[in-house]
Amino acid sequence: MGDVDVREEAALTAELTARLRSGSGRRALSVTELLLPRPAYWRRTSAPVPAPLARQARMNLGRAWHRAFEAVLAAEGPTEVRVRRDGVSARIDHLAGIPLEIKTGATPVGADLARERPEWVAQLALYCALVGGSEGRCAYLRLSAGGRPAVSAFEVRFRSYERLRALLGDSEARLRTALEGRDPTPLPRCAWFGRGCEFQTAGVCACRGSEPAETLEFGSEIETVTEAPELGARWTGALAPAPPAAERWARFRELLYPRRTYFEQRDEGPEPPGEAPGFGPPDLYDRLLEALEGGPPGEVASLPPQGTGPEEEVVGWRDHPYLLKVSRAWDRYAPAEIASRFPQYELELGFRCARAGRSNGLVIVGYERAERDDDRLQVLSFAFRERDRWGERWNERAEALDRALQDAAPLGLPACPRWMADSCPYAAVCGCAERETRSQR
Ligand code: SF4
Repeated sequence: MGDVDVREEAALTAELTARLRSGSGRRALSVTELLLPRPAYWRRTSAPVPAPLARQARMNLGRAWHRAFEAVLAAEGPTEVRVRRDGVSARIDHLAGIPLEIKTGATPVGADLARERPEWVAQLALYCALVGGSEGRCAYLRLSAGGRPAVSAFEVRFRSYERLRALLGDSEARLRTALEGRDPTPLPRCAWFGRGCEFQTAGVCACRGSEPAETLEFGSEIETVTEAPELGARWTGALAPAPPAAERWARFRELLYPRRTYFEQRDEGPEPPGEAPGFGPPDLYDRLLEALEGGPPGEVASLPPQGTGPEEEVVGWRDHPYLLKVSRAWDRYAPAEIASRFPQYELELGFRCARAGRSNGLVIVGYERAERDDDRLQVLSFAFRERDRWGERWNERAEALDRALQDAAPLGLPACPRWMADSCPYAAVCGCAERETRSQR
């Protein structure tokens, strides 16, 4: 299209390559998995189990207010901050010096947070262990049918960062051992047993409810927990009376591949069964993620949305939207050719840049076939000359997809990249492989 300049970023390539070489060699476990190790075990070792519909509806409302509150907090520091250390990953809701965790719910929560919600305090403890501190905050958004939630703010101070690090290591080792040995026996009793755990309801888990109670003691590490009513009132007042309305198309892939979305939307058959994710050594994508997210906390965070686009967040590295790709190419990409050889990269990054209000983005590529880690990684920067045009293109695609669905006429929509047809369940009815060349737009 000629409206993008691509060049290789040699210094960034060298920096991330050094991080890749010194990676942990471990597949990361998330803080939320460490806190609920039994559901995490079954999630990693069995086919996906959907959450009950009633809980999904509650979660959707909670998510909408969660996003609205993050928009308020974004002025004071990065949101949805990705951190990865020593085989543990976390996505911290807000990090303005200290980590902040946002919770939503319908029931009241009193001032004694450690007694009423010990799992929230444990989560903050693990965040502190990851970012190197001993203080955190929790914001509780109490949802009501009448509109804007009331926000309660809590400040938590822990005694010893070193003890928190030890607890993090113990909880990581416990779950990793269970997963690697395919044996959940040493894991503590599930907090959700008998309370609507989806794995129990689906008959997937082997839990009995008589397992030993949790032994990792986070409560004893608390120095103080204080409710901060002024802060809660300020946050409550900053919220709009209603969360932003949901966008018609929620994810980038829906309009990146509109023809595929068309068939998915009209497909009334049962969902094909998913596969267990498994738990083996880290693949190249995991290693790239570790290199990217293993830097100083705050480098990888959500970029506040602007203009039109999907609800899906745009994540930035050092304030630049990025794509992380694994390639089986034998040779590194030539910057001058990448936009024409892989137009999907330009399209996806263009949409993300427009959504984040940026003109520059990065494509970070890992090469599976490279013989040495020294040659495995490449960072390319894309500079878009007409950023606003990508927002317009998003709207054009959204309208075309809506029209196609209304008229039951998919063939005017751009075909997906040719390689997708090989594993696409709609290939026979769509016929893209016969009709289309590599059309991307
Ligand atoms: S058959 Fe091809 S164009 Fe059609 S939905 Fe599948 S991948 Fe996309």
